[in-house]
Amino acid sequence: MKRYKAICFDLDDTLYDSSWHYEQGVKATFQTLHPELDAEAAFRLVKERTDQLWPIFEEGTIDLAEYRRLRFVTDPVLNKVFDEKMADAFHAHYMSIASNYIRPFEGLAETMEELTKKHQLAVITNGPADAQWLKMQCLGIDSFIPEDRLFISGIIGAAKPHAAIFHHALNELGVEPHEAIHIGDSYPHDAEGALAVGMDAVWLNRNGSVRDVHPQVRVIRELKELLPLLKAC
Ligand SMILES: [Mg+2]
Repeated sequence: MKRYKAICFDLDDTLYDSSWHYEQGVKATFQTLHPELDAEAAFRLVKERTDQLWPIFEEGTIDLAEYRRLRFVTDPVLNKVFDEKMADAFHAHYMSIASNYIRPFEGLAETMEELTKKHQLAVITNGPADAQWLKMQCLGIDSFIPEDRLFISGIIGAAKPHAAIFHHALNELGVEPHEAIHIGDSYPHDAEGALAVGMDAVWLNRNGSVRDVHPQVRVIRELKELLPLLKAC
């Protein structure tokens, strides 16, 4: 593993369970701001809209503020309660409490602590500018990865699997692609994206998904398998 000067990680669903985090944060926000609604049912409506709208946001058709509002105002049930102002208030409250619901995957701190002794660690993440650094702090990994090694698509203007975000990170880290490895849970975004620019890749396949995997991509089921894997490289 000494040959890697830089080890890059995806953030959401690679270092912590983002689905659980989102669900708990949204339900808690409903319970606080809208106790008249059934938080479980309301969450399911928001989740459905989120799944529909997120790809449209990623395409650039709508901006982040619109995405956040449309989750509420385009739903035939929620729009009886929410106007745009209330949708903004919901998001503001969610942001203020969501960090209570971030749980690192098993082995995260030990993995980072060990790897940081010999490698530059970095995070390459698709997401909005305002949430990702806070998540890093809540996960307690900001001591291993400073803010200038957190590469966010919302700031850089290119999202994985686009080569530009990987090239940007590699340039900032001062390493060649073959000197770096990227670990992430999305096969197309993380593994294929990294491979396409000449980095090595580890796919974190937590769900045991079955698919064709490029022979250069190493596969793990849990984050705690990463240290033994990299030691064996
Ligand atoms: Mg991910």
